[in-house]
Amino acid sequence: MRAERLVGVAELRRGYPRRPVSETDPRATLARRLDYDEPARALLVEWEDGAVHRIPFAVLRRSCPCAVCAGEMGRPGRFQLKPELDPGEDELADMHLVGAYGLGTRWADGHSTGIYTFEHLRRLGAATAGA
Ligand SMILES: [Zn+2]
Repeated sequence: MRAERLVGVAELRRGYPRRPVSETDPRATLARRLDYDEPARALLVEWEDGAVHRIPFAVLRRSCPCAVCAGEMGRPGRFQLKPELDPGEDELADMHLVGAYGLGTRWADGHSTGIYTFEHLRRLGAATAGA
């Protein structure tokens, strides 16, 4: 598990596309660094505008934007049906960049369909800052 996670981080650091993804404030949605903060059990995001966010794994997992978690076409999402987290659901096992716009995640329970855009991560970070 550990080696696998470090590979994910190395990929992020090596291949990160330095291209803005927002018209309004490009640096606010351009991640300079994405890393695991294990003691805090959080995703560490350093943005090009200088902001630093730690998004707790549980917050990240609950806000997974995929159809299963968020729901679609009038069907409720996974956390609407059962708010409690199961073992492994908030254990971030691996992450990788998706194109130039987002972050893909794999959780210890095997869930890996969510793609978090940098705009989404910035909103999550701002919402959890100081919490
Ligand atoms: Zn999901």
